[in-house]
Amino acid sequence: MNNVYAWPYANEFGQRETVRSDVLVLGGGLAGCFAAIAAARKGRSVALVEKGATERSGSAGSGFDHWESACSNPCSRVTPKEIAEAYIEEQDEYSNGIAHYIECREGYDRLLDLEDFGGKIRDTEGLFRGAEFRDEKTGLLFAYDYTNRFTLRVWGTTFKPALYRELKRLGVRVFDRVEATCLATAGSGGEKRCTGAIGMNTRTGKLMVFEAAATVLAMSRPARIWLFNPDLVGLCEFRPTQSIGSGHAMGWRAGVEFTMMEKSVRGEFSAAGRSFPPYGTGNNHNTWYAATMVDARGVEIPYVDRDGRELKTVSERYRPAPGQKFFLKGGVIDEAKYPYRGPETLDYDELMRRGYKLPFYADLSRMPEMERRAIWGLMVGEEGKTRIPILENYTRRGFDPEKHMLQSYGTGWQSASFLGQERQLFGAPGGIMHDWDLKTNLDGLYAAGDQLFASDCCGFACATGYYAGRKAADSVGGAEREKVDPALIDREEARLYAPMLVRDGMNWRELNMAISKAMQNYCGEFKCDELLNEGLDLLNSYERDSVPLLCCDNPHELMRTHEVLDILEVARLILNACLLRKTSSAPLNFRRTDSDLTDPPQDRAFLTIRQENGKAVGGRKPLRYFGDIETEYIKRNEAYIAERDARYGSR
Ligand SMILES: Cc1cc2nc3c(=O)[nH]c(=O)nc-3n(C[C@H](O)[C@H](O)[C@H](O)COP(=O)(O)OP(=O)(O)OC[C@H]3O[C@@H](n4cnc5c(N)ncnc54)[C@H](O)[C@@H]3O)c2cc1C
Repeated sequence: MNNVYAWPYANEFGQRETVRSDVLVLGGGLAGCFAAIAAARKGRSVALVEKGATERSGSAGSGFDHWESACSNPCSRVTPKEIAEAYIEEQDEYSNGIAHYIECREGYDRLLDLEDFGGKIRDTEGLFRGAEFRDEKTGLLFAYDYTNRFTLRVWGTTFKPALYRELKRLGVRVFDRVEATCLATAGSGGEKRCTGAIGMNTRTGKLMVFEAAATVLAMSRPARIWLFNPDLVGLCEFRPTQSIGSGHAMGWRAGVEFTMMEKSVRGEFSAAGRSFPPYGTGNNHNTWYAATMVDARGVEIPYVDRDGRELKTVSERYRPAPGQKFFLKGGVIDEAKYPYRGPETLDYDELMRRGYKLPFYADLSRMPEMERRAIWGLMVGEEGKTRIPILENYTRRGFDPEKHMLQSYGTGWQSASFLGQERQLFGAPGGIMHDWDLKTNLDGLYAAGDQLFASDCCGFACATGYYAGRKAADSVGGAEREKVDPALIDREEARLYAPMLVRDGMNWRELNMAISKAMQNYCGEFKCDELLNEGLDLLNSYERDSVPLLCCDNPHELMRTHEVLDILEVARLILNACLLRKTSSAPLNFRRTDSDLTDPPQDRAFLTIRQENGKAVGGRKPLRYFGDIETEYIKRNEAYIAERDARYGSR
């Protein structure tokens, strides 16, 4: 073994620990925490495995500023079904109707849970008393559509610590600094079931074996597939560094079914050091919506509503157009379809045609005081990755939103531009296929949050986490815990420790860089079978020739190395998924040069993919496979509805 004597933690390589629980949760982000809480509330013993520190880990660990789809909050003027259906239509039906309905129906329940746990969801101090976006009775603050009031501004920085306290209070056993690396299964074919997982302590190297009757996957989504900068690893992508899609890789190796993995978008945000830090430019999207924008001469840039009507006041930017029921805004909604389009600044090309001069600036000094403070202070401050790098840092250096403007090249997200082959899994990407219980194709295995296909936001993660946790808990019943196959443990130990035995080999950064280049070249904007197959051959050659050369000196570097092995696995999953779709698809951003067809009726379906005996196996499901979302939900959740109504009153 390479030298580990300077390492500050115990050297536990070669040691093993077995943990048994009714329910095992992999990933301690919002979804994982809520899955564990739901299962613990049902009296199950629960183990939660988190690679970082649960108290602050995951996308929401540093905060988030808005909670989408709180359709059942007391001020909402929309129903869960209306908004869930809008999300489905918005994505041309390539969307997750089951999970979105759960999000819209149960999301606000989870927000009330968070408040019970000590999170802050309302303006209790009256900081925004009198503001147009504040409900004076409840103290709730709204974002975007002030008429329909279904998106809330929240104090997201308070939520992860609150969840962590609740996990502890409920007696959930939390295994921080442990990376899950492998799903344990028994049986084969349609009888295959999940019996737990294997992992490694990322500080000591100890091998961890988890045996459970039911397991929930909540390890977020892949990253660093196309975009990687070895000098700026932490800035490579929007989501946190430790979330690179291990859950997908483990699932793929175990035979879990995925869908929409052929979908990717041109890099748009926070990638590989080319853009400013997220929310560090004064644009007018998402957190910064609906900032007043001016051009280089200080001339104000007009906002228009859905129908192109120029808006005269700031207030109108937060209202639907005449005759429009509601509009969608937030993380995933970039270019909403006509019925759901909200006010926006004039189209960029039109601005250029009309002679507006670059660069543009957000000028908060021209906004009403409440709106200015809502953006700079509440939103920029509570949003992920903003409190210290942006709000505190810029303020310390003298930025004053009452006096200064913040530059942005254009409007919207535009803080960097990317080439067609520089892609990301962003904007409701592919992920795990599931049924109405959020169960995967493997018995005993559930999934939640960003690991599900077409996932997006915090409300989605919390609601689906809780739902998967309660379904997993219900499934345990008399189910026996099975032992994890000792031969699998031996194989996994050998695989995990191998890079510690190599001397003068290759660093994980080199392999990540090579994979990203390969994916840019062979799985970029334009695809055809030859390219995709060449890409697969190249990645297979990395597996054969480069992986055995990987080396590292301590458990932390070893974890980074395991991540890149997972990135390699996910890259192959994506190439295989692309090979299955033979025609182009606009909603999936999927362009083939070897087919003249775009979205022909026969291909408008969820193409599914799983691995069996080392081969990719394709399948398909109709786009509306989930049926009528409200009826199907009610059928399966009567006990929850009764319990929920008893607690909060019926909606
Ligand atoms: C900067 C930023 C701002 C955002 N702002 C908003 C917002 O304002 N509103 C909104 O609704 N959404 C927002 N989102 C999206 C939202 O935060 C996520 O959709 C949501 O947090 C996903 O929750 P999750 O539990 O599925 O995944 P995560 O919260 O990412 O949790 C996944 C967890 O799995 C762990 N993990 C990963 N691999 C392993 C492994 N191998 N073993 C063990 N553990 C592992 C990770 O450490 C992590 O803790 C934002 C995201 C980012 C990145």
